[in-house]
Amino acid sequence: MSLQEQLHELFLLDQQLRGLRNRLDAGQSRQRAQQNKLVQLQQQQQELSHQLRQTQVNAQTLEKQSGEMEARINELRGRMNNVTSNKEYSALLVEVNTLKVDKSKIEDQALEQMNEVDTLKQRVTDIEQKIDDQKKLVSGADNEVDSARAEVGDRLDEVASKRQAAAEKVPADARAVFERLADSYEGEALAEVEEANRRRMEYNCGGCYMSLPIERVNGIMMRTNELVTCPNCNRILYMKPELKSALSGAK
Ligand SMILES: [Zn+2]
Repeated sequence: MSLQEQLHELFLLDQQLRGLRNRLDAGQSRQRAQQNKLVQLQQQQQELSHQLRQTQVNAQTLEKQSGEMEARINELRGRMNNVTSNKEYSALLVEVNTLKVDKSKIEDQALEQMNEVDTLKQRVTDIEQKIDDQKKLVSGADNEVDSARAEVGDRLDEVASKRQAAAEKVPADARAVFERLADSYEGEALAEVEEANRRRMEYNCGGCYMSLPIERVNGIMMRTNELVTCPNCNRILYMKPELKSALSGAK
């Protein structure tokens, strides 16, 4: 196996391994996102429930106050029936009228709080529905992670050891170049030579799409145990066997 072929083998296994790892990672990050959403909704629900209880207490207090005022008014009216002087009667009447005005204000406030209670109850119901829906999404994401782990877990170990074996075949210096490129290009350490125009001998790097000097293309053809890179993006260049044999046949 030539160096170019060894690197290509390593490249394919490296890509497989990255693909498997990405699948696990993607599932886990979706799971975290759905879980965070659920926690947010539960916090909202707690806040709303607290607000609801507070508003219910307010409404009850106001109703109690209004009831006490009502009792006081009735008491004063009873006394008005038994008074003997006009002066005393007028004083009681003023007090009753003042109480009536205050009571009406309290009743307005109580009504306002009752309406607020209804609104809050509806909002709590809505958010509880959202929480139920979100719990389904969370358990869907959990299942996805479990099945990805079950499916990918064994293959991950298998592919990782194959990649290790392939890497060990590659000479240390070429291997270091490969690993560095694979890290900076997220696995795209190799780029395929793309044929733009055979007659005009125009070839591009499949990684950065810049045109390649013909010496590089010839280098890949002639010196298969050398590492040939793209002068623009530095990726290791690779040529498909079909193109290779077509080109050597053409010569
Ligand atoms: Zn390039």
